Amino acid sequence: MKPSKVYYVSARATKWSYKESLAGRFESLLKEIEIAGYLKKKEPVALKMHFGSEGAHRIIRPLLIRKVVDAVRRAGGKPFVTDTVRIKGLDYLKVANENGINEHSCGAPVVLADGIFGNDHVSVPSGEEQGEVFVASAIHDAPAMVVLSHFKGHVNAGIGGAIKNLAMGGLSGASRDHDWKHGRGGMHAHHTAGKIEWDRERCSLCNQCVEICPLDSCAFVNELWEYNTKKCWRCGRCTRVCPEDALNMPMDEDRFHQGMAESTRAVLSTFKKNRVLYINFLLEIQPECDCMPGADVPVIQDLGILVSDDIVAVDQASYDLIRQSPPLPGSMAADQGIQTGDDIMVKLHQVNGQKHIDAACTLGLGNREYTLIDR
Ligand code: SF4
Ligand code: SF4
Repeated sequence: MKPSKVYYVSARATKWSYKESLAGRFESLLKEIEIAGYLKKKEPVALKMHFGSEGAHRIIRPLLIRKVVDAVRRAGGKPFVTDTVRIKGLDYLKVANENGINEHSCGAPVVLADGIFGNDHVSVPSGEEQGEVFVASAIHDAPAMVVLSHFKGHVNAGIGGAIKNLAMGGLSGASRDHDWKHGRGGMHAHHTAGKIEWDRERCSLCNQCVEICPLDSCAFVNELWEYNTKKCWRCGRCTRVCPEDALNMPMDEDRFHQGMAESTRAVLSTFKKNRVLYINFLLEIQPECDCMPGADVPVIQDLGILVSDDIVAVDQASYDLIRQSPPLPGSMAADQGIQTGDDIMVKLHQVNGQKHIDAACTLGLGNREYTLIDR
C-alpha cells in the first residue's frame, strides 16, 4: 500500500505577514486540498469538533474553524459545526458559546449532533467489543464530514486525536439510564476489569473526586467512599484528580483500544468512501481531554496543523511529531520529571495510545505509513 498523504503547516511563523501566519498558511492549504472532491454541492457537511468545558479554554480556536467553514462553503457544501452532549445539552451549548463556538464567530450553525437530550442516535453494528454503538443522528445522516480534532492527552486513551474524536465523540450521550452502554458512556466503561478500589489509608478526604464526577455517581457516606456501579461511566476522572493515589480503576487496556477502533469504524461506516477529511490541531497540547473542567498549560510546544483523508495516517503523524518533541518547562510533564525522548503521553497517563492507532490500522481504517507534506 502506498503511504498516505498528510499535509502539515507548522505553527512557527517566521515572517510577519498574514500569508505566512499559521491561519494564512492553513487557508492556503485548504484551497490546495480541493475539498470539493469530498462533498457534493448543496449537501450538509458536519464539522465534528469538541466544544470544550466550562474553564477548559484550550480548544480549537474559532478563527481556524472559520477557515474550514469558508473552505467547505467555497466548495459548495453547507457546513454545520457539531458535537455530542457531555453535560445537559442546553448547558453544553452555553459552554460552546462562552468558548466562542457560535454561528457569529464560526460562520456556520452550531448544533448538537445527538439533540439537546443526547438521545438522538442510530444504532450501528460495531464489532466484538460492544456489538453496536449509538451514532449521533446528525453525524449518521450527514453525507460528508470534516473531523476537527484538538490533539492532546487523554486519561483512558492516552492520546486524543481523530480516532478518539469519533470513537467517543461520534456517539450519543445516551442519557437514558437503560441504554447508555452503547453511547459515549459505554465507550468509556467497556474496558472495566473490576470495581474501582478506594484506599482508606491514603485518602485525605479532600473531596476532589466527588466534585469532578460528571454523573454525581460517587460520594462519601459516613466517611466511606462509595460509587454507583450502574451509573458510573468509568470515565476515570475521579482517579485522575486524586492527589493521594487513593483510587484505582482496573482497566483492560487492550480491550479498550480495540473497542475505540471498532466504534470509529462504525461511525465511518455511515459515510460513503472519500467523504471524510481529518484535520488535527497540534496546538495548546494540554495533558488532559477538553472535557475536563479546566485546562493546564501545554506539555509540548505548538506544532501545527495536519490534514489528511486517512484517519490512521493523520493520528500516526500527529503522535510521531509529539513523540519527537521535548516537554515544556513549567508543565505537568516537567513536574513529573519527563525527559526529552520519553513518550510524554504514555508517561503522563500510563496508557499507550499507539494501541488504538494500531487497532484502527488492523481493521483497515487507514495506513500507518505516510508522507508528510510540509506547507
Ligand atoms: S469513574 Fe469516577 S468520576 Fe467517572 S463516573 Fe465513575 S465515579 Fe464518577
Ligand atoms: S480525591 Fe482521593 S484523596 Fe481526595 S477524597 Fe477522593 S479518594 Fe480521597
